[in-house]
Amino acid sequence: MARYVGPACRLCRAEHTKLFLKGERCNSPKCPINKKRPSPGKGPRERMKKMSDYGIQLREKQKLKRMYMLLEKQFKILFDKAERMKGITGENLITLLESRIDNIVYRLHFASSRSQARQLVNHGHIKVNGRRVTIPSYLVRENDVIEVHETSKKLVNIKESLKQFSRSGVSPWLELNPDEMRGKVLALPRRSDVTELADVKEHLIVELYSR
Ligand code: SF4
Repeated sequence: MARYVGPACRLCRAEHTKLFLKGERCNSPKCPINKKRPSPGKGPRERMKKMSDYGIQLREKQKLKRMYMLLEKQFKILFDKAERMKGITGENLITLLESRIDNIVYRLHFASSRSQARQLVNHGHIKVNGRRVTIPSYLVRENDVIEVHETSKKLVNIKESLKQFSRSGVSPWLELNPDEMRGKVLALPRRSDVTELADVKEHLIVELYSR
């Protein structure tokens, strides 16, 4: 599957927001978004004022797509699935994005970024309900148990990530046992549970695809 291989920080600059693509660096003073001062008259707000409705909707979609590191085709497949589900399409989309196994591995702090999480899944380091899962788009369900494979528990990257981030806890819909390197999906997340996406206006994405 093709993927974006350019500089991750460039994507954040394009969206004028932090997409948290580089783990630890994103929360450090080294993050270019922290350093960069917007030039007068050219900040995101000024740009939004000049943008067409289509442009604003497109930017919102790109932001979410890039945050989860998906290509257009992968994103559209999830959107179509969200549309077929009961309830509000935009909220369903967020639930589906959050349910991807690569996102869960990131949320459980087995990896410090979604790209690192995807690599762990691709390389067979992750098990769901006791079975190895190597497809990053695999969608977890309520009560699924996600754990690091026994032979991978010695991996330094996983240990470091857990050591660094697990103290901050996990999302309320997840449960983590850092010593066992095991987590559980207590419930699929509702839109309001995903506070990290509070700024995302998913209804604009629905409007974009309804054109
Ligand atoms: Fe984005 Fe992280 Fe780079 Fe900052 S350090 S610009 S949040 S990828």
